[in-house]
Amino acid sequence: MGKSDKIASCRLCGRNEPLVNSHIIPRFFFREMTDDKGQPFRYHIVHAGPDPSIKSGQGGIKEPLLCKDCDNKVIGSWETYASQVIFSGLPSTALDEVFPNTYKLTGIDYNKFKLFQLSLLWRSSITNREGFRSVNLRKKHENIIREMLLNNDPGAFNQYGCLMYMIQNGGVPFDEIIRADGASHIMSHKVQRFIIGALGWVFFVSSHRVPDKISNWFLSQEGELYIFTIEANKIGILIESSQILNTLLYQGK
Ligand SMILES: [Zn+2]
Repeated sequence: MGKSDKIASCRLCGRNEPLVNSHIIPRFFFREMTDDKGQPFRYHIVHAGPDPSIKSGQGGIKEPLLCKDCDNKVIGSWETYASQVIFSGLPSTALDEVFPNTYKLTGIDYNKFKLFQLSLLWRSSITNREGFRSVNLRKKHENIIREMLLNNDPGAFNQYGCLMYMIQNGGVPFDEIIRADGASHIMSHKVQRFIIGALGWVFFVSSHRVPDKISNWFLSQEGELYIFTIEANKIGILIESSQILNTLLYQGK
């Protein structure tokens, strides 16, 4: 353990341990952002709000939140799996364009990928790092998700389900952007939204059941996930208006 390691209560398991600098946004999302000369990856944090500002960052968004076991073994194992699903593709998974601008990913390990999604939502909520102050689950939901992560319990598909979309620029996946939009509502359900690289994540954190036309977009317990694509020049409208997202929900499926 290094001199700088701070001993404190791990936010996940609660044990007093030296805390490691945990990545709030997994390192693998930035893989595509390393430049040709191998310089550290850079990213842009785009703040939501009436006066949006853009800040650049480099080298990761980290904070000492977790003990080594929780960071490397627990969350690390879900991250490794998710990075393979998102970037490398796995022999067991398949991606097909099933409707215009809508892809279906099959063969996903529900437990691992859902727990990864939940860990992303939870980390974004507990961090104090810039760019994520607007993501704030109520303590009740923060605690429920912490218990789920700790118990390796992904919950039902419609519990804290996540609708995902891919942002493209002229048909090519867009990256270098991180944007947390915090809480808003879609069809009267509370959501937490953020964009990481090319992927948009919309978590439904309502306590009441979301309708099928939304939950059909969540990762199913059979390992199927629908993802729609949207052009970057439309994303401003998408962010500002839940109406557009509502409309998209009626497309395709
Ligand atoms: Zn721990």
